[in-house]
Amino acid sequence: MARTLVVDQEACSGCGTCAAIAEDCFAVSDDTDKAYVVDQSACSEDEIQEAIDTCPEEAISWQE
Ligand code: SF4
Repeated sequence: MARTLVVDQEACSGCGTCAAIAEDCFAVSDDTDKAYVVDQSACSEDEIQEAIDTCPEEAISWQE
């Protein structure tokens, strides 16, 4: 089964780092001030991995 990219809404601080690194994949919601996945296929694997590695809250992960 395909993997699904998820942002843990509890953990996310809304810092915006993921959206800065992979702007086509992540955005920060104006409503919740939390990041969400826009389109996991819109960025490269490297960009997503960098966002995962850089997130200060370790809120981004793949779910199988
Ligand atoms: S980098 Fe992490 S904490 Fe910051 S907005 Fe993205 S998911 Fe949230």
